[in-house]
Amino acid sequence: MVAAYMAEPLETDYLVIGSGIAGLNFALLAAEHGRVVVITKKRPADTNTNWAQGGVAAVLAEDDSFAQHIDDTLKAGDGLCDRSTVELCVNEGPAQVKRLLDVGVRLARDAAGKLDLGMEGAHSRHRVVHWEDVTGREIQRALIAATLSHPNITVLDGHIAVDLLSMAKYGGDPACFGAYVLDVRNGQVKTICARATVLATGGTGKVYIYTSNPDVATGDGIAMAYRIGAACGDLEFVQFHPTVLYHPNAGSFLISEALRGEGGVLKLANGETFMENYHPMKSLASRDIVARAIDNELKKSGADSVFLDMTHLDATFVKNRFPNIYERCLGLGIDITKQPIPVVPAAHYMCGGIKSDHDGATTIKGLYAIGECSMTGLHGANRLASNSLLEGMVFSTRAAAAVKGLPMTRPAQVAPWSTGNATDSNDAIVVSLNWDEIRRFMWSYVGIVRSDKRMQRALRRIEILRDEIREYYLDFKVTSDLVELRNLALTAHLIIESARRRKESRGLHFTLDYPDKLPEAHHSEIQLTNGPRG
Ligand SMILES: Cc1cc2nc3c(=O)[nH]c(=O)nc-3n(C[C@H](O)[C@H](O)[C@H](O)COP(=O)(O)OP(=O)(O)OC[C@H]3O[C@@H](n4cnc5c(N)ncnc54)[C@H](O)[C@@H]3O)c2cc1C
Repeated sequence: MVAAYMAEPLETDYLVIGSGIAGLNFALLAAEHGRVVVITKKRPADTNTNWAQGGVAAVLAEDDSFAQHIDDTLKAGDGLCDRSTVELCVNEGPAQVKRLLDVGVRLARDAAGKLDLGMEGAHSRHRVVHWEDVTGREIQRALIAATLSHPNITVLDGHIAVDLLSMAKYGGDPACFGAYVLDVRNGQVKTICARATVLATGGTGKVYIYTSNPDVATGDGIAMAYRIGAACGDLEFVQFHPTVLYHPNAGSFLISEALRGEGGVLKLANGETFMENYHPMKSLASRDIVARAIDNELKKSGADSVFLDMTHLDATFVKNRFPNIYERCLGLGIDITKQPIPVVPAAHYMCGGIKSDHDGATTIKGLYAIGECSMTGLHGANRLASNSLLEGMVFSTRAAAAVKGLPMTRPAQVAPWSTGNATDSNDAIVVSLNWDEIRRFMWSYVGIVRSDKRMQRALRRIEILRDEIREYYLDFKVTSDLVELRNLALTAHLIIESARRRKESRGLHFTLDYPDKLPEAHHSEIQLTNGPRG
């Protein structure tokens, strides 16, 4: 039997877990003062970043102002945004757009050569820079090209972090000094030590059966950080995107907010509009309102989907502005210039995450969290569209400056990963069944509309499943599927627990038992000392 560990730890200055916008921008900047290892569990472009369509919000138009962008962000956040974080991100917006251009990202321009600024839901001004409707793909392309050619950066694809290394295991204060990392190709678990460990692991969409997120979004960073004692917060605020294409062969394909921004109108199957019954901004209301309205209409009628109608807009404009969405829908037999698009809501974005400060520092020394896996207070109870790529840029930039000069804090001898008596799994069906079950009950019980009873049902199930997964985890050799299932289950548990504790409806968290907002907004916080077992 081949021992599934390497005796000697690898050492680097900065270990980055994740190759999306946050991880790669951090890597590029930190590589100016240290060696960086980036690990990513699949290919470097398998990220939420790569799927982003709309773009990056920044104040660039003459009729716009920082105050207006701040105001829009605070309104969306429903009383729960951290004002200083909002100001920081909004004020840094224009500089971060310049940084993207400097890294080689192409951005659309108008006839006069100025950056073209898109309009999105709940923004009061045109302020979203974009590259057609595949902005994320363009950002990812440029960042990967720059990263791969940097002499101080090593990118290890097909490497999944299993657990973080903590000094607490060696009798010290809880500080993080790296991670155990599984090389998916050969089953070896490497020990990688670092002065700073940076979680840039993205979202949690796969916790739900319907999601706009790619397969990598299993909440790994949140689960790993929680297990070593980091404080997490606001995990009940899951953003459901109102418009994901409803088609048996579409997988999870997002119909961007920008379509409604450019005049798309939501309708029922009979052609009637309905959003005027829910909000004065109609189809341009914020995502939580639109998602809940659609959910309600679907429950009322029993229909499979509602429709987003673009047919009244100029066909050439629609094709030029949304070439990717146009082609994708056409490939499925829907000409969006002539037919309305069938859409349903799906889990899209995690507003909460690992608590981090303005430098990306978590409550654990040596551990940083940036991008979607973090909770900076920017989004509060609901994210304003296109603020998340901006957040990823802002905090990766600040974290890269903050880690400079950090000392290496690690034990002289690091225990290698041990497989104990674990054997190769002969029961992989357990993983796929548990995976499926969690995602289904999370959708039904802890989805767009919640209640105490539903969440109690979810809690009972997750406790049983996590016991089963723990047993399985101890008995069998670690695989990437098992790592993801373990993290998905813990993340689901943390979402359920956080949602149960919020006795009000605010932003994205809506519960039938407490339909009103409490007079004072408060963040939720969950960590090992007051939450479920890790
Ligand atoms: C369809 C879609 C459209 C969107 N459109 C927009 C938009 O227009 N504007 C906007 O601002 N935001 C948008 N968002 C949200 C935005 O794309 C994400 O919030 C953002 O890209 C997250 O970046 P990130 O760097 O934090 O994480 P990601 O880009 O998701 O990267 C996470 C990385 O971590 C890796 N990883 C995870 N766990 C592990 C592990 N255990 N070991 C090793 N690697 C690991 C993954 O493989 C991946 O490389 C959209 C999201 C989706 C899904």
